[in-house]
Amino acid sequence: MIQAYRYALEPTAAQEQALRSHCGAQRFAYNWGLSFVRANLETRAAEASFGPTDDQLTPAVEWSAYGLRRAWNQAKAEVAPWWAENSKEAYGSGLANVATALKNWSDSRDGKRAGRRVGFPRFKSRRAVWSCRFTTGSLGLVDADRRHIKLPRIGVVRTGESTRKLARHLDRGSGRIRSATVSLQGGRWFVAFSVEVVRAEPVRVQSGETVGVDLGVKSLAVLSNGRVVPNPEYLVRAQARIRRLQRRAARRRGPDSKTRTMPSNRWRKTQAKLARLHVKVANARRDGLHKLTTELTDSYRTVVVEDLNVAGLLANRRLSGRIADASWGEFRRQLDYKSRWRGATLQVADRWFPSSKRCSACGVVKAKLRLRDRTFSCDECGLVLDRDLNAARNLAALVEIETSTASCAGTEKMPAGNPRKTSSGAMGIATGRSRAPSDPGQRRGCESVAQDLALPIS
Ligand SMILES: [Zn+2]
Repeated sequence: MIQAYRYALEPTAAQEQALRSHCGAQRFAYNWGLSFVRANLETRAAEASFGPTDDQLTPAVEWSAYGLRRAWNQAKAEVAPWWAENSKEAYGSGLANVATALKNWSDSRDGKRAGRRVGFPRFKSRRAVWSCRFTTGSLGLVDADRRHIKLPRIGVVRTGESTRKLARHLDRGSGRIRSATVSLQGGRWFVAFSVEVVRAEPVRVQSGETVGVDLGVKSLAVLSNGRVVPNPEYLVRAQARIRRLQRRAARRRGPDSKTRTMPSNRWRKTQAKLARLHVKVANARRDGLHKLTTELTDSYRTVVVEDLNVAGLLANRRLSGRIADASWGEFRRQLDYKSRWRGATLQVADRWFPSSKRCSACGVVKAKLRLRDRTFSCDECGLVLDRDLNAARNLAALVEIETSTASCAGTEKMPAGNPRKTSSGAMGIATGRSRAPSDPGQRRGCESVAQDLALPIS
């Protein structure tokens, strides 16, 4: 299992300079590799338009990380006479990244890659994230006080927090560092070690309880047993500060490409403050999620969540909403690996399961529920409940619904939901990648429902 250990760094001025230089070198190598391949592709395309046979064309260059590295070593003295200032790792990882990007593009073009279409890689600008990956050389922890790490060429850098947890894995021999990536985020430097960790098989057996979790915006989460997990206090305060700073930035002179106005220093300062605050908010959110996912996988046997991997569907323009959108993926990721560590079961509701619109008492599905309606009220049985709690209860009940609809007769009782958004397999539990929605007009037969139910539950 690969696990990341991330630490804030406190580099000296000279080290910061070296870090910047390495990140710049990685970007340079990436852009060089990309233009190298692109020029070759364009030449070949131009030649092909005259109609010669394939062996008469300029030979194709090799795109692999290995091939690009070989080409780079031949060209570097000419294109980057300063190359010796940085570790060769910086160039190597830039070229490896561009090789991956090119492979993703060509696989996507040839239909070998699932998911969204991947475009041709673009050049990295100075405004992209500054980062550099080291895979070999002298990298790792420094034992003395557990507050220092070492990197090739950059040396021993102090960390913002103790590296104790990773050090224990390394000491016991249950962890091996594969790579270290440094990056500049919101004005701070971080290192992330990618560590191969061997974990003992989970032996703990949880109590038989099932819990449904609805990730909220106002609160961090609502559990089906009625517990409301509040957002970390720090997050709430920082969000208010972000809004204030955004208003302040709006009052200052920003850049304007039309009139070629340069931004004012006061605008720049506000932006820098905002960037730092955004990082803090993200950290606070992640910390809250870690505490929540640890508690969930620790105290329940089965955790049921919604599949909210609906990028773009929830075009929530408000700040808090955007942050919530961004953390759903992180929440799922944490739940996924922690449930495997601890032997809990994670169930993900099909994305067409109407968890918000369904009444958790009688099962009737409402035709319409606006996003701003914070309470759910059922027209059939008169239930009035907090919207998120209702959704969490529906999720928890999903396990029982699954069992009761396993027979063909049971499928009749299934709530139909919104016919435009819900297929009759709406109660299915998606395992791994969720299924594409079936034709909305087509009513799926009993067999297909039974097949859905026979899927192994992750
Ligand atoms: Zn009802």
